[in-house]
Formats: sequence, C-alpha cells, structure tokens
Amino acid sequence: MTASLFALMARNFPADRSRPLLITPDGQTLSYGDMDALSARIARLLTELGLAKGDRVAVQVEKSPEALALYLACLKAGLVFLPMNTAYRSDEVDYLLGDAEPGLFVCRPEQQAEAEKLAAARGCPRVMTLGAPLGTNGSGSLAEAAASQPAEFAPLPLAEDDLAAMLYTSGTTGRPKGAMLTHRNLAANGLALRDSWRFTENDVLLHALPIFHAHGLFVACHCVLLAGAAMIWLPRFDAAQVIENLPRATTFMGVPTFYTRLLAEPAFNRDTTAHMRLFTAGSAPMLAATHEAFTERTGHKVLERYGMTETGMNTGNPYDGERIPGTVGLPFPGVSVRVVDDADSPLPTGSAGNIQVKGDNVMLGYWRMPEKTAEEFTADGWFRTGDIGLIDAKGYLSIVGRAKDMIISGGYNVYPKEIEGLIDALPEVKESAVVGVPHPDFGEVGIAIVVPADNQTPDGDTIINHLKNTLANYKVPKKVFTTDTLPRNTMGKVQKNLLRDQHRSLFT
Ligand code: ATP
Ligand code: MG
Repeated sequence: MTASLFALMARNFPADRSRPLLITPDGQTLSYGDMDALSARIARLLTELGLAKGDRVAVQVEKSPEALALYLACLKAGLVFLPMNTAYRSDEVDYLLGDAEPGLFVCRPEQQAEAEKLAAARGCPRVMTLGAPLGTNGSGSLAEAAASQPAEFAPLPLAEDDLAAMLYTSGTTGRPKGAMLTHRNLAANGLALRDSWRFTENDVLLHALPIFHAHGLFVACHCVLLAGAAMIWLPRFDAAQVIENLPRATTFMGVPTFYTRLLAEPAFNRDTTAHMRLFTAGSAPMLAATHEAFTERTGHKVLERYGMTETGMNTGNPYDGERIPGTVGLPFPGVSVRVVDDADSPLPTGSAGNIQVKGDNVMLGYWRMPEKTAEEFTADGWFRTGDIGLIDAKGYLSIVGRAKDMIISGGYNVYPKEIEGLIDALPEVKESAVVGVPHPDFGEVGIAIVVPADNQTPDGDTIINHLKNTLANYKVPKKVFTTDTLPRNTMGKVQKNLLRDQHRSLFT
C-alpha cells in the first residue's frame, strides 16, 4: 500500500465530502470535496510545469485556503513542501533558496520582483505568486493557472521514507537547519496526536497559528485532516477575532503568548469558553502562572505538549489524566523518550540531563548536513534534542532549558529556568530571562534581564539579595537589567542569543 500521507488523510475524510474543511471568518466554507479538487488542480499544474518527485517547492505566502491546498498538492504529487516564515527578509530567503535548491518558489505578490532576483541568483528556475485569498478577486498566477486544470489527480504511490516536507528550525540557537520529514514521520505523529487528543468529525478547530511552522501546519492541520474535522481558518492571531469565533469551535491550539494575550481580554472567560473541549499549548515554555491564571479564569486546564521541528510532538500532558503545569507530560504513543548524561548513559529518575527521543516521528536527518545529522543521532538511533530535562516518578517530563542556554559558572551547571522561575514569582516582575556572559574568573556568569510588572520599578540589588537567600551563590545572577520587552521570534521564543550578544563584553 502507498505510504502517501495524503492517501492516509483521504481514507479518513468524511464520507460526505460536502462537509466543511475550512471556514473563513467571513463565513465562507470550503468543503473536503472543494479542497480535494483545488489541490488536484494544483498538483496537475505543478507536474505539468515539470516538477517531479522529490523536488522542493519553497513557499513564502500569507495564510490562505490556497496555501493549504498547495501543501496538499505537494503531498499528492510527491513534492517536498518547504514553507518559509513570512517574517524572513531577503538575506534569509536567499540562504534558504541556496540551501534547498527548490524547483519553484511561490512568493507574495508584493515580493515578486525581489523574489525573482533572488531566485535567478540561486538558479531557482521558477517564481510564481499563489493567488488571492478566498473571497477576493486577485489574480495570483498559480491559482489562476490551476483553475483551467482538470480537478482530478491520483496521488503518487510513495514509500515511507519519501520526503513530504522540509521545515527549517526556528533559528533560536543559530542558523535555521532544514529538517527532512518523511511521509512516515508526519503520518505517525499525526495519528498519535489525533488519537491522544480525541479528534473526530465533530470537531471544529479554531486555527490562528501561522502555517510555516510545525505547530500550525502539522500539529493543527493533521489532527483535523486525519479526523475529517473542520477548521476556522483565521489569517493570523487576533485576540478579539479568536474570542468572536470561539462559539463555533470545540478546540484551540496556541503558543504561550496567545494565551497571555487572551487572558488580557475580559471577554475571554468561563462563559465564552464553557463549550470548548480542549486547549493545547507549546512551541515555547508556558509559565506556571499563565496555566494557573487560565484555569482560574476559564475552569479549563491547558494541555501543554513538547515538540520540535525535527521530531514533531514528543510528549504531552494527558487528555484524561492529570495535567501538571510546568511539565510537558508523557511520551505520545510510538515515541520513546530518555534523559541521559553527556556519555549517553540513562540518568536516574529526577536527574536533569539531555533529552533524547526515538520513534517514527523523528526526521530522516538535516538537509545536506550529513555531519550535523551524524552528530545529533546516537549510534543506536536516539535523536539528541538539545533540550535538558528530567523525568519524575510519575513519568512526566519537565524541560529545564536548552543545552545551549545552560551556563557553566566556575565549573557548575546553572539552569536559567530555575532562576527565572524565582524572579518571575516576584510581584514587581512580569517576566525575565537569565543568560550567560563571558567572565574572566568564572568562565561564564549569569545575568538577568527583567521586564517590570505594570507600574513597578524592580530594583536589581533587591532581586539579587532575594535570590541569595534561596540559591547557591554560583547560581545568583551577577547583574540585573531592566527592559520593556524581551526579544522574541515569531513563534514567541525568547531570543537569548541576542541578549547574550548585547551583554557579551560586560565583564571582559
Ligand atoms: P533552532 O533549533 O534553529 O535553534 P528552535 O529549536 O527554537 O530553533 P523549533 O524546532 O521551532 O526551533 O523549536 C523546538 C524547541 O522549542 C524545542 O527544542 C524546545 O526547546 C522548545 N519547546 C517546544 N515546546 C516546548 C514546551 N512546551 N516547553 C518548553 N520548550 C518547548
Ligand atoms: Mg532546535
């Protein structure tokens, strides 16, 4: 049998293909049948343009129904979907085009001239725009050209290890790396999530995430497409629009910043969320305080899960069992998780170490980086996540931080998250980031960057003295800076590399 992810989805589509897949905020719907036809036309067009199995299709477009159709068309035609963050500027696009060597670059209309220049320099043979979002009268070249194609396309028979998508990591710790994701990877993780989170044909997911990232594209869309469910397809996150659309939804997925922004709206409350059956969070750590505020306001508990571009979702708090804030729960079916020391030996329960994972969800490797791929897998096939965590007696995983963010001060390991937790609990502080900077004596020391709570002016010395009462001296940040906001990338991740660079010469 074909291992095509699209074929698997199609087997799970509702028997009645007129059921809605996408509902746009203005009330238009696109049925499963419509989406099947639209993606078939696009698959035909792509094939007719000469794109063949394994070719990359780079895509930097706004979220629209056509963008999802283009992804499905790539799955059908055995092409490798390569979405790019819409925030990427020319330099970043140039790097990805050079690295991925796509056969087609689908760009935004306003970027077409620039995109053509970049593509020509990188030998990418073709640039097209996508087409206007549903309901407007734009003349995007790809959707326009596809319109005259027949609406039938038999999905290519594929093997499990054929590539379905190539996603670049968020670039939080360095240059983004291309993760090669196969039909097997995406199918395994999609089914595990659909079943763990009980998605059925009756669900309506309120989709407010971007679709250039694993969270919005795979986690969200696959739960829906593998269950025959529907999505309310919001162009972007807007707290008021989310609240307005909640009554029609059953489930919602967000990054932690979505939740803090929703909690800032009084209209987000017990009444407006009473009918919802599931809220999930991930992509960055959600503060325990946000979990608590959410439960207090709505009566719901957010289900936090942990994943990464290279692996999809690894662990999650349970649907039925206890959801514990500050943990990322238990391994999903088919995923093995272990915590090891630097020699890859498993550590006892409760000890912090390197998180490694194994399973059909784990990528084939990094695109054209065989050495990096070899480095990040153990000889017996465990993937090194680069995250540090511990597994408690109940089997729940907690993320302590990223190996790259760990500070080694005078030979001792300092985990910034432990210190940030204590600082964040102070009433005068909204949030904080602790990073390591070079130090002549200790090698490295921690410094804290804090964002004041509303109408507060935190004092650095007071914070340091407070920490000295509870922490070993080597863990106490040597200096505290105040700032209005922490630098974050589009997925809401704090960019600690920027903070480190900014304060690099503090002691040297
Ligand atoms: P890069 O690998 O390029 O530096 P990145 O790791 O941020 O960027 P992603 O693959 O988007 O790129 O993010 C995966 C990372 O996000 C994980 O390795 C982990 O550090 C973090 N993460 C995801 N979910 C959670 C969570 N629930 N709690 C804490 N951290 C999380
Ligand atoms: Mg990473």
